[in-house]
Amino acid sequence: MKTLLKNLQAITMADGPQIFRGDILIEDDHIANISQSVDPAEADCVRDCTGLVAIPGLVNGHTHLSMSLMRNYKDTCANLQDWLSEIFPIEDRMCEEDIYWGSMLGLAELIRSGCTSFADMYFKQWMTARACKEAGVRGFISLTLFGDEDDAADRLAVTRLDEELDGGALLRKDLGVHAIYTCTAGNYRYTRDWAKERGLVVNTHLSETRKEVDDCIREHGMRPAEYLEQLGFFDLPCYVAHGVHLSDAEAVMLAQHNVGLIHNPSSNCKLASGIAPVSRFRKLGLTVGLGTDGASSNNNLSMIKEMRLAAMISTVSTLDVGALPPYEVLKMATIDSARALRADDIIGSLEAGKRADITIINPNTANMTPVNDIFSAIVFSMSENNIDSVYINGRCVLDEGRLTTIDEDLVCREAQRCWNRLRRSE
Ligand SMILES: [Zn+2]
Repeated sequence: MKTLLKNLQAITMADGPQIFRGDILIEDDHIANISQSVDPAEADCVRDCTGLVAIPGLVNGHTHLSMSLMRNYKDTCANLQDWLSEIFPIEDRMCEEDIYWGSMLGLAELIRSGCTSFADMYFKQWMTARACKEAGVRGFISLTLFGDEDDAADRLAVTRLDEELDGGALLRKDLGVHAIYTCTAGNYRYTRDWAKERGLVVNTHLSETRKEVDDCIREHGMRPAEYLEQLGFFDLPCYVAHGVHLSDAEAVMLAQHNVGLIHNPSSNCKLASGIAPVSRFRKLGLTVGLGTDGASSNNNLSMIKEMRLAAMISTVSTLDVGALPPYEVLKMATIDSARALRADDIIGSLEAGKRADITIINPNTANMTPVNDIFSAIVFSMSENNIDSVYINGRCVLDEGRLTTIDEDLVCREAQRCWNRLRRSE
């Protein structure tokens, strides 16, 4: 099947801030041609996209999809530790259908906000994988570990994620070790060896709060990234979330290990964790992508809102409007997130040969007119209503504002039903 998107403005993110008017030919799961003119005779179906803008699908580098069920719950906790103490007991009660409907709820929101792929760390992750296949969304799904090496071995023994994988069409299996304050050194060592044997990409939360850093220095005599380096965790392909309190020396060390950092500005603001100095980290050579974290610490999964906040807090924290320009923010949300996840060979930019993960924007609305600078318009003015269509792996999952793979009313009803049950068992 060949679909031709004709007469659009394309922002490829492949080679600097260039924009061109042209056509994109999608063949099955990939971009077959992207150029100023493709002959319509080459396509089975042609869509006139005059007035629309194509960007690479946004890549949400760190989230916990099923936490969408806990949206707007316990919003007044003072910090991460207090909040986790409220959230963990609910998570202990979540069953497979909670994970499934929580994932579907999250996937609907991701698609509507122009996001085509995401990295997820959560429990019963095979249900998230199943939801991804049904919704047609690309997922980097982590087997998620807590506790010591015995806990890790137990969790790895019972996961059913392998049964839900699809040969790499949409899903990749990663390995997520939650954090140094919930996992032992033995767990990180065990995981390192387990992932190495199987060629998996690993990830973890890192340096999210000042308390995590202080506790690590007190217990281990070194900072969190230094601690994980010494455990050999960064010898693997790896991405880490947050990095709010990384030192410059740690950022350089992570860059040397080719570890990607995922910036989560909303969650870091909401849980009073701080502001990651990402413009400085980028200058130090660290790859920095962008993620929403879970909807219970955000309280949404919109990469559009995340881009705007990333730009705003960078400016206010550095007092430099040029520290993180809009083009760089869009880069973080697309190719740099893909690079951090070690997936830039297949996604993150619009190039022939890459998977057809494409977000089509309609900027002809009151909130985006006049566009003037398209990168400013996308980062500062765009909202979810500007997402016209979304293609993932060549499949149209949002068609002129209509979800084609998800019954949104049903998903909202079922997610509410699951949450009502979880609340009642408090
Ligand atoms: Zn997280």
